[in-house]
Amino acid sequence: SARDPHQPEFLQAVKEVMTSLWPFVEQHPRYAEQALLERLVEPERVIQFRVSWIDDAGHTQVNRAWRVQHSNAIGPFKGGMRFHPSVNLSILKFLAFEQTFKNALTTLPMGGGKGGSDFDPKGKSDGEVMRFCQALMFELHRHLGADTDVPAGDIGVGAREVGFMAGMLKKLTNDASCVFTGKGMSYGGSLMRPEATGYGTVYFAQEMLHRAGRSFDGLRVSISGSGNVAQYAAQKAIDLGARVVTLSDSDGTLVVPDGLGDERLRQVMEWKNVQRGRLSAFADKHGLHFDAGRRPWHVPVDVALPCATQNELDAEDAKRLVSNGAVCVAEGANMPSTLEAVDVFLAARLLYAPGKASNAGGVATSGLEMTQNAMRLSWTHAEVDERLHAIMKDIHMHCVRHGTRADGTINYVDGANIAGFVKVADAMLLQGVV
Ligand code: NDP
Repeated sequence: SARDPHQPEFLQAVKEVMTSLWPFVEQHPRYAEQALLERLVEPERVIQFRVSWIDDAGHTQVNRAWRVQHSNAIGPFKGGMRFHPSVNLSILKFLAFEQTFKNALTTLPMGGGKGGSDFDPKGKSDGEVMRFCQALMFELHRHLGADTDVPAGDIGVGAREVGFMAGMLKKLTNDASCVFTGKGMSYGGSLMRPEATGYGTVYFAQEMLHRAGRSFDGLRVSISGSGNVAQYAAQKAIDLGARVVTLSDSDGTLVVPDGLGDERLRQVMEWKNVQRGRLSAFADKHGLHFDAGRRPWHVPVDVALPCATQNELDAEDAKRLVSNGAVCVAEGANMPSTLEAVDVFLAARLLYAPGKASNAGGVATSGLEMTQNAMRLSWTHAEVDERLHAIMKDIHMHCVRHGTRADGTINYVDGANIAGFVKVADAMLLQGVV
């Protein structure tokens, strides 16, 4: 921590992983050789650059952008781009570090990376978003490549932003190989990619519940966020018979005690994705309850799926969920629970899945998009969904293998960290000190 005093999110992510790895490395000392752990916490490369662009009023705007190329030990750097005013180097380093283990867990050959900018797409016109994306690509394109680094979407980067960036990238490189995932279907995207992270999170929770002899049918589920991951997590949970009682955004929580039905969810998706509206206005329009300024975790549920952002669920929230009788928490977002909240979940022996295991379905499907592009063909919805489902089951199995406690319960944090680590570490040891 003396090296990175101003990077609390990065230190938090490293601490969580090292807490799992330390006892394992003591039992398997070959993983302490070649300064493996020291190398694993240093990104291979960090690129920081200026993005200047002209807004609709003719004024020049300046943003900061980064790409953190964390590890290519098992494949090209791979991870999303995030556009949000809170983006800084600490957040992107934590995300790139986590991504390395997550990508290893998918069993596909992808290294870890992450990038983004402090640009805020909210309230910007399509033209402004396009000019910003193009200006960003002017620099970033030289660091990318189908076998070098392949970005995708994340917070604030959806189909529109990916399209603008991928379009400019193709223009600059005169090369149409797969250098972005999350592309539109008309130019090389994969079916199921928009759904993949949310569906995958629910598939993972379904495996956890199944192992405990339960199913989603009839369970009450709270979901935070109302973006890409939250929307499709809600859709799959509803499909499986659950009652989804919340969605949220940074202004507060929409509470629907009887549960969101298919039709209501469709309206939310139209509101968020087409109108780009706020949840509070949606609640007003439809006469629903909106809990302004509050997060969803006080609402009594059986399952909680945090799908918004990092550190959105603290120890108090975790205690509340446990005392309200929650049995399962599966993270759709990256590091939504604080370290203290995770301690509460682990002590309560609740079924708790860290994001790097439960939200890996998104990047796994990005990997499937790369495969389809390389083969120049396109799988059906059902084929991709089947592979996604199989990958989530596989990740669950790896977590069970490496995370089973003496009493037979599963510590999914240890399971995910150790399983991801072993794959990356073995690859690093074989490739020498580079
Ligand atoms: P979106 O931009 O589509 O949605 C983000 C949602 O989270 C919005 O509802 C947003 O509300 C809310 N949110 C964002 N920042 C904050 C904040 N600081 N405080 C409160 N709420 C906030 O992003 P995604 O759905 O793609 O991503 C959500 C999470 O899932 C992130 O942690 C991301 O890293 C993770 N993830 C995403 C994957 C993907 O495939 N998209 C893959 C794996 C993980 P508001 O509109 O008010 O900002």
